[in-house]
Amino acid sequence: MQLHTTLANLPKPSAQRIALRVSAEAEKIIRQGHPWVFDQSIIEQSHRSLPGDLAVIFDSKRKFLAIGLYDPTSPIRVRILQKGKPASIDANWFQEKIKTASALRQPLNHNNTNAYRLVHGENDGLPGLVVDRYAETLVIKLYTPAWVPHLQDVCSALNSFQHVILRVSRSLNKQTKYLHGLTDGMTLTPSPLEGQSSSNLILFKENGITFECDPINGQKTGFFLDQRENRERVKKLSKDKSVLNVFSYTGGFSLYAADGGAKEVVSVDFSAPAAQATLRNIEYNQHLANIKSTKFETVNQDAFEVLTEMKEQNRKFDLVILDPPMFAQNQAQIETALSAYKKLTQLGLNVLKPNGILVQASCSSRVDADSFFESIHKSAKEAGRPLKEIERTSHALDHPIAFKEGAYLKCLFAVAP
Ligand code: SAH
Repeated sequence: MQLHTTLANLPKPSAQRIALRVSAEAEKIIRQGHPWVFDQSIIEQSHRSLPGDLAVIFDSKRKFLAIGLYDPTSPIRVRILQKGKPASIDANWFQEKIKTASALRQPLNHNNTNAYRLVHGENDGLPGLVVDRYAETLVIKLYTPAWVPHLQDVCSALNSFQHVILRVSRSLNKQTKYLHGLTDGMTLTPSPLEGQSSSNLILFKENGITFECDPINGQKTGFFLDQRENRERVKKLSKDKSVLNVFSYTGGFSLYAADGGAKEVVSVDFSAPAAQATLRNIEYNQHLANIKSTKFETVNQDAFEVLTEMKEQNRKFDLVILDPPMFAQNQAQIETALSAYKKLTQLGLNVLKPNGILVQASCSSRVDADSFFESIHKSAKEAGRPLKEIERTSHALDHPIAFKEGAYLKCLFAVAP
């Protein structure tokens, strides 16, 4: 793969490493494998430097503790790349890390599935860097400017892919000074996507179902790959059922439910592009008999309004999926998020038939699994429908968990009397 000229012009990290000492508490946490060093825990620093320069952290005995990427723009001042023994952080080092991450995903790479998260940031030892694969396209997402000087090395390590698209997080997009000509949505390969130059859409397969993804304008990198296994679980529970998929995005759960034999699937999302993509995803799969025979309805409206209206109409389903966006961005919002989850459980149960199945997920990492499950149970009890659990699920293989904050996804499958 020939790389975009912009990559060759990116600044290189400084040859001079930053030397740091941190508080005793931070030292302990680093030894335990936590990947973040916050600005307040730095007690000594050799010099100020630029995003992406390498910082070496020494312990209280002035011995090497860890090496990481420095980011003066974030309270997470250093993201640890390696602890315990020194390393040259160069193209080979990145290549090895990406090779390890790729090997872990091999079970997912088969005829029926060609989309998965190849690099899951901190949890694959590459903090602040996400790489998602959609067929022959990779979407790189940066959450810190510290990756910019290393991007050429990262892209070289990913060179078996035809197309590479760059996305930058919302906060990083504002730091044009450190982006050095990189822009959100730019293609890092010389040619536009083959045969698809008039649109950004990529077609890929997940468990035999065809989906499209818009890696440039879509949410996240274009698709919610983290729900693959929960979608598969829904498929197994859907035979002959009427299914309501709330916060449906592009219809991931809807298509799986249909493939599993659902007779009727209603998808609800307030995003118009997501609703349109849902309709196209249904079209792509008309060769699958079960999907062809499902009656689909797509509602492009606020979920809370729709659930309230359905209750008034006494409309009920055999299976209700609630997969809302993140409710808690910070510590202060945890209680509000838990109340919102409770409210949703109640609204979901209002439209669930007796002995129907409730599937409720949370992607707020601030809300821990126990509190989330407890709030659902509490809400169901208050509604007079104490739940019988089928399963509690967490992360899929391509979203490993390497530290506490890395555990964000939880989902409950339960029967409501
Ligand atoms: N279940 C989806 C992912 C859901 S992401 C999948 O498997 O792909 C959350 C979705 O909720 C987004 O598509 C967003 O557009 C939608 N959303 C957020 N707030 C909403 C609201 N109040 N009403 C309806 N949809 C909403």
